[in-house]
Amino acid sequence: MNNNLFRKEIPAVKTIVVKTGSRILTSSGYEQRVKRLVEDLVFLKKRGLRTILVSSGAIAHGMAALGLTKRPATIPLQQACASIGQNKLMQMYEKYFSIHGVAIGQVLLTWDDLRSKKRYLNLRNTFFQLLDLGAIPIVNENDSVGVEEIRFGNNDVLAAQVALLTQADLLVNLTDVGGLYNKNPHTDKSAIHIPVVSDFSSSVHKLASEKKSEISVGGMSTKLKAAEMVTRAGIFALVGDGFDKRLTDLLTHEDSATLFLPKQHKMPSRQRWIAFSGQSSGSLIIDDGAQRAIKNQGKSLLPAGVKDVRGSFKSGDMVDISTLDGKTLAKGLVNYSAEEILRIKGLRSSEIKNILGKKEFDEVVHRDNLVLL
Ligand code: GLU
Repeated sequence: MNNNLFRKEIPAVKTIVVKTGSRILTSSGYEQRVKRLVEDLVFLKKRGLRTILVSSGAIAHGMAALGLTKRPATIPLQQACASIGQNKLMQMYEKYFSIHGVAIGQVLLTWDDLRSKKRYLNLRNTFFQLLDLGAIPIVNENDSVGVEEIRFGNNDVLAAQVALLTQADLLVNLTDVGGLYNKNPHTDKSAIHIPVVSDFSSSVHKLASEKKSEISVGGMSTKLKAAEMVTRAGIFALVGDGFDKRLTDLLTHEDSATLFLPKQHKMPSRQRWIAFSGQSSGSLIIDDGAQRAIKNQGKSLLPAGVKDVRGSFKSGDMVDISTLDGKTLAKGLVNYSAEEILRIKGLRSSEIKNILGKKEFDEVVHRDNLVLL
């Protein structure tokens, strides 16, 4: 399916998530860039790809509509701008997508929609249904309701979550710089472009996180975090220049984008949710033996290895699994409630029935429902 659509390292793409930043969509000449982006998205869709767009720009378009030149400092004003601007943004997309006869569907999200497994699965159905219908979902944070606790804060994280949720094969992050460089390309002509990253060693993060190391152009740090997250789940990530370059060129040429290679085969959906999206309701503190069994031998967590229980949760909830010195080692779905685990902790599995009057599982957390961090 990919013949000539993607650079050679990317083998097969069925689902692609493309994220575009506010500057691409709002600074001077943006209508031309949007038109070009829409053409490319439609091109990919017509080549059989399931295509999703994550679009920023609501607040910026709202500011323009209200005649504001500085980003609002207060949350209510930001929310009002987003409310007005999101509509403008969609009108703009509607205008260009309708030229091609392609339907678009707006999806606005907060963290709350992903943290609950039920809502997560519902949402996944919505995306799949839109894609089955041949529509292109256009996603943004639901900024007008997003109070601090449920905000993604930036669309890099949101785009990564959408890629995880929709089982995408490739996440493309369009920004105003051609990916990663060893120095700041805007200020240093000798900067060398990095076309491929195969491992997230600390030196890669340093390229973005040290302000003085110059690469922190356009919030590269959150783009790297998003790329690291999806590559851990088996998804390719590409960060490149969507300001001056076409999306379709970034997919085929390596000079204006950095490709991040995935770590392993695709993580199953349930493990993705545990690792990256779900919210823990408490934690289990485990002993050294259990730590070794989980970490080195891929074993389940048994009651014998549990030293303590924190928080209040019921069977099926997600918890952190932490070591005695307070490090979170893993996350997992529990087979027993907090109260039950408090009663069986430190005991052999054969004793569960005596204590609880029932034994549905030997394990407190089965290894299939456990993800090491
Ligand atoms: N959701 C914000 C907006 O549409 C943008 C967040 C971001 O740029 O990362 O204005």
